[in-house]
Amino acid sequence: MHDVVIIGTGPAGLTAAIYAARANLNPTIYAGSMHGGQLTTTTEVENFPGFEHGIMGPKLMSEMTSQAERFGTKILYETITKVDFSKRPFTLWADGKEIKAKTVIIATGATAKTLGLPGEAELMGRGLSTCATCDGFFYRNKVVAVSGGGDSAMEEANYLSKLCSKVYLLHRRSDFRASKIMVDRVLNNPKIKVLTPWVVKQPIADNTGLTGLVIQNAETGASEDLKVDGLFMAIGHKPNSEIFLPWVDVDGHGYIKTTNHTATKTPGIFAAGDIADPTFKQAITAAGLGCQAAIQAQRYLEEHEH
Ligand code: NAP
Repeated sequence: MHDVVIIGTGPAGLTAAIYAARANLNPTIYAGSMHGGQLTTTTEVENFPGFEHGIMGPKLMSEMTSQAERFGTKILYETITKVDFSKRPFTLWADGKEIKAKTVIIATGATAKTLGLPGEAELMGRGLSTCATCDGFFYRNKVVAVSGGGDSAMEEANYLSKLCSKVYLLHRRSDFRASKIMVDRVLNNPKIKVLTPWVVKQPIADNTGLTGLVIQNAETGASEDLKVDGLFMAIGHKPNSEIFLPWVDVDGHGYIKTTNHTATKTPGIFAAGDIADPTFKQAITAAGLGCQAAIQAQRYLEEHEH
């Protein structure tokens, strides 16, 4: 019987583990298929406080893992595939094995959607990115493109226009899903050139990374080469929340809804990090939510064991 089971080893899960372990709750953390979460696919992280000269994403996550282990966190490299939160203690299954827990912290994150371009995996971090806040700085004074027509794409295009010499916004339709105010900001930004309805067909790359894109007009079928140094895919995120339904409420995009900080609708089940954060999606905000979830789990246990 576990006091606290944490699912996910991104900044939220590992911060929750550090706090729970230091509160003597002997947390067990299930790493799932992507140990370290989204930061393991980034290069340098320059906006996580405490690292004056930045730190590589994978290094940051391995440091957080060691810190959690130092206080007695048990990390299992297994994936939780099914849960039953209908009664206490809660039941979870990892690779067919049954686990019992008094509290659970869900920190399974969200996965950025990508376009599925040829050679995409090799070019991630070498011209392709899914996060302007994380990687935009590396494209200072360069030409970049953003793909997408939602609020994320508008926000990323505006953000990048402050760093880059030119930003193309490519969207597959001529209408935008984004809110009018966000679209207007983009349309009025002299550094952003909006191309609709255009889709990215293929990256063009050499041994230094991305050098351009083959783009295609979605109406006429005409193709063109667009010279860019970077492409930011801002076509949405998919929160990893499916297995927790119906014991948590989710919004229209699948993000877990929380009340009172990290509490879900099932007492004893907490959600932290990108899984419960459609707005900020930063490593530091995820870590903050992980801290809150661990403290709330600790208080929940104190209340229920007395
Ligand atoms: P989103 O609203 O789902 O928009 C995704 C965009 O990507 C859509 O324009 C979609 O095109 C396009 N897209 C999806 N798959 C594509 C593909 N395979 N190829 C080309 N284009 C593709 O996602 P989001 O922009 O990340 O926003 C998610 C939520 O967060 C929204 O509720 C949004 O309002 C919110 N948000 C708010 C703010 C803010 O207010 N500051 C900032 C960011 C996000 P179609 O339109 O043709 O489907």
